[in-house]
Amino acid sequence: ANAKTVLEVRDLQAWYGESHILHGVNFDVKQGEVVTLLGRNGAGKTTTLKSIMGIIGKRSGSVKFEGNEIIKTASDKIAKQGIAFCPEERGIFSNLDVRENLMLPPTIRPGGLSVEQIFELFPNLKERLNSQGTKLSGGEQQMLAIGRILRTGARFLMLDEPTEGLAPVIIQQIGHTIARLKSEGFTILLVEQNFRFASTVADRFYIVDHGQVVDGFASSELSANMDKLHTYLGV
Ligand code: ATP
Repeated sequence: ANAKTVLEVRDLQAWYGESHILHGVNFDVKQGEVVTLLGRNGAGKTTTLKSIMGIIGKRSGSVKFEGNEIIKTASDKIAKQGIAFCPEERGIFSNLDVRENLMLPPTIRPGGLSVEQIFELFPNLKERLNSQGTKLSGGEQQMLAIGRILRTGARFLMLDEPTEGLAPVIIQQIGHTIARLKSEGFTILLVEQNFRFASTVADRFYIVDHGQVVDGFASSELSANMDKLHTYLGV
């Protein structure tokens, strides 16, 4: 079946002050896919996610979400349309406990998961219900950060390096979570440095280099593209 396009990015450009960072990014994400942006440090992956979310001051080009142009839309309105962003730094409030953190997502639309549903997805979080953010392990913080964006009711999730700094067993859990969310119909755009992890969860990949998407391929075409990965990522 031809899945419909959820996100269509065309000639996306972005600036931090005078620094021109994205020079025309093009890619698509279809309904129900897990798509991963790969690329070296500083290639522009995080800036791409932030530009889609509307949290970069100066951007141009076109970003269509479910057919609607959002390049000039304010970030709170983008969130209300159903895009959620989980930043690399996770954004856990250190002085609040697990439940309090879950009660503070940026936006809530109909269809957001309840706190109980989030605990069903992440049983370890339930055991840590009254623990403060600072007392959580890196893996627990990442699960809390993902849980919190599921509260928002968004069906399109952007996760920036969810496995960074985590132990292999926790990375595996994050992988299971992503697979489960996919099976429940969520669409996921992932930024990853951990190529091995990305290759276990992604349907398709795009390579970002110097502020542009320079290549794209399906996970079934991975072995045929190892040369490119070596060139662009050093893997
Ligand atoms: P990383 O994994 O290191 O985050 P990335 O591919 O996500 O890599 P970006 O974070 O998007 O890369 O950064 C792209 C470029 O923008 C880099 O050259 C970086 O130095 C620059 N940059 C990032 N944030 C800012 C900022 N707040 N102000 C100015 N320049 C920035």
